[in-house]
Amino acid sequence: MSGPKKLYIKTYGCQMNVYDSERMAEAMGGAGYVETDTPDDADMILLNTCHIREKAAEKVYSELGRFRSLKDEKPDLKIGVAGCVAQAEGAEIMRRQPMVDLVVGPQSYHRLPELEAKARDGAKALDTDFPVEDKFDTLRHRPRARRGPTAFLTVQEGCDKFCAFCVVPYTRGAEVSRPADRVLEEARDLVERGVREITLLGQNVNAYHGAGTDGGEWSLARLIWALNEIDGLERIRFTTSHPNDMTDDLIAAHGECDKLMPYLHLPVQSGSDRILKRMNRAHTAESYLRLIERIRAARPDILMSGDFIVGFPEETEADFQATLDLIEAVNYGYAFSFKYSTRPGTPAAERDQLPEEVKSERLQRLQALITRQQRAAQDAMVGREVGVLFEKPGRFAGQMVGKSDYLHAVHVSDANLSIGEMARVEIVESGANSLAGRIKAA
Ligand code: SF4
Repeated sequence: MSGPKKLYIKTYGCQMNVYDSERMAEAMGGAGYVETDTPDDADMILLNTCHIREKAAEKVYSELGRFRSLKDEKPDLKIGVAGCVAQAEGAEIMRRQPMVDLVVGPQSYHRLPELEAKARDGAKALDTDFPVEDKFDTLRHRPRARRGPTAFLTVQEGCDKFCAFCVVPYTRGAEVSRPADRVLEEARDLVERGVREITLLGQNVNAYHGAGTDGGEWSLARLIWALNEIDGLERIRFTTSHPNDMTDDLIAAHGECDKLMPYLHLPVQSGSDRILKRMNRAHTAESYLRLIERIRAARPDILMSGDFIVGFPEETEADFQATLDLIEAVNYGYAFSFKYSTRPGTPAAERDQLPEEVKSERLQRLQALITRQQRAAQDAMVGREVGVLFEKPGRFAGQMVGKSDYLHAVHVSDANLSIGEMARVEIVESGANSLAGRIKAA
């Protein structure tokens, strides 16, 4: 085998999986691998899987089937499964798909090089432990390659909330917060490599309570204020939050920290107190609406984003109407919505399920409302001046595309702009899913 070995990673699911795939690629870089974007010339294929949606595991098995011919042609090809399906299914994956050489859970990515070596020696490699050692410690040795202007940075993992529909507490484990000095070190490194915007990630990011550099325990707000000190870091975002962990200091930071962007993703899932209770969300629709009021009092122009599940077991038309009423009351800029789907091992999966057609009909109504709100929020930007971080060239010559402070896609025709540049932009037009603007003279 001449030249560096090639690694093909396919990533499914959330931003944290995107972040993890980058870390795994870096770890395998240390083992002599370079990334390839096609499985055809790979020496190792890694599927980084998501367990959030129905039949997630079945999709992985059918995806693996696609690589059988590659494996037949190239017996030395190693195939691995990582991510939340790996954590949930473990050895079952290799029993059902014997061509799989390696299965690794989200907490063991730092052991990937040794697992790969074990598989190269012909043994099956399985690791779905929750090791005591901090994987990030081992994953610290990062390449010096330049990066694009935006990056994800995991600061917290796992969840202690146990919502009745969710597998995350079982696949990602208990909440763990990274020490602040490690997060700051990684952030500085990213900025040195060209990053200007960092999105802090966690399944329950606003429950962050990491060891501070002053020996104390830091909240997410305290961490954000420390990141705020980094020269060259222009924007800070965070996701995904739980309403019960929106602390006073985090709400205040939205009002006072200039680098913290005026966009907040705050899932609520339902507007019915009865369903919120059955979901084990541990808050009411009223308390959520009061929280939104406090956040908007701190930052009046903040753009709110939400998550909704329709068709949760036992949801009545009245419960669903309560969800529509809550959405009307909040008036979201963005919202993501899903039909409830059973997740093996979660409490709600044991309950009587609603007919699929009821779920689909309600999802349609909910998405119609959300689409109206999203469009209205975007249209309201016309005539306003916003900050834009340009990330890539647009479809037309001389056009650049970036994201506004409010996370709207904005395109500007100005041949002098470059990737990573930030500018004040006057919005002149609102399109289907993006805004058009012109550079505001300095
Ligand atoms: S808070 Fe989020 S990650 Fe945690 S159990 Fe609930 S839905 Fe899952």
